[in-house]
Amino acid sequence: MSLPEIIPGKTRLGWIGTGVMGSSMCGHLLAKGFAVTVTNRTRAKAEPLVAKGAEWADTPRALAEKSDVVFSIVGYPRDVRQVLLGDDGALLGAKSGAILVDMTTSEPSLAVEIAERAKERGVHAVDAPVSGGDIGAREARLSIMVGGEPEVVAALQPCWEAMGKKIVRQGPAGAGQHTKMVNQTLIATCMVGVCEALLYAHRAGLDLNTVLQSVGPGAAGSWSLANYGPRMINGDFKPGFYVEHFIKDMGIALAEARRMDLALPGLALAEQLYVALKAQGHGRSGTQSLVLALAAISKVEWPGGVKA
Ligand code: NAP
Repeated sequence: MSLPEIIPGKTRLGWIGTGVMGSSMCGHLLAKGFAVTVTNRTRAKAEPLVAKGAEWADTPRALAEKSDVVFSIVGYPRDVRQVLLGDDGALLGAKSGAILVDMTTSEPSLAVEIAERAKERGVHAVDAPVSGGDIGAREARLSIMVGGEPEVVAALQPCWEAMGKKIVRQGPAGAGQHTKMVNQTLIATCMVGVCEALLYAHRAGLDLNTVLQSVGPGAAGSWSLANYGPRMINGDFKPGFYVEHFIKDMGIALAEARRMDLALPGLALAEQLYVALKAQGHGRSGTQSLVLALAAISKVEWPGGVKA
């Protein structure tokens, strides 16, 4: 199968999904000089990219007809299935030799299915979920976890470099998504720890910002503490990373673990706490709002209040 040469000004890119992550990531590719066609369920969210020179397409299929490489970063596996494999999906519009790059956090098995169905049509596909949050996307500092054929992954280097700082091929199709599940398993219990620690500090009457000065740089420091701790303390519960997307990710990881006969009780506990948070009305809040659900268990009033 041929591969497109990826050169700004020559290669035509397509971008499906212009939400929190996709808008920034696509913006970096535009800034590098790539010609980009965009589409999104809600057109208004793509308008800022159109204002910067992107072209609009009505469907992923129409977008793929004009593109050498098609990126997608939508919400859930069902959205991935629709935008890539559906009747108006990118695969049916993709040219022979084109590349589909799904950057959504999605199911490893779906990534394998997409790669197989793409291959039948002479199209390449890689899974490339990301870590680094909304800030990492804005600052082009993402860690990109890639599954796919080595030569296809290598050909995409100019695009990876526009969006991320750490790009690692983890193995064949599905390996990127499996690695992202490892990432989410790490974050899940870490978030519980961060919230419990800050609740303890609050209840003990300590000044939370002063506490962060001591525990942040030591062995207890973490990305979650450094990035989400201040948001919790300031009562900033805006997304960032939606609670409902994190529940989706933990559900995928738990299902994969069950399939492998692997018990992950820490992950299961974190998932249940997040389900409670969603039930309390915070599905569309940022994941740092977990502190509110844990505060509620002990009837603690959190200092930042409820400003989600
Ligand atoms: P988001 O803001 O909801 O963005 C998703 C975008 O995809 C939305 O603009 C949505 O359209 C669009 N979309 C969904 N289904 C579609 C469909 N069927 N057809 C066309 N467009 C569709 O979410 P996000 O925070 O950018 O996250 C995107 C993905 O990255 C998720 O899988 C998430 O788990 C993952 N992720 C997020 C973060 C983070 O920190 N935010 C970090 C790493 C990974 P609408 O505008 O109509 O909603």
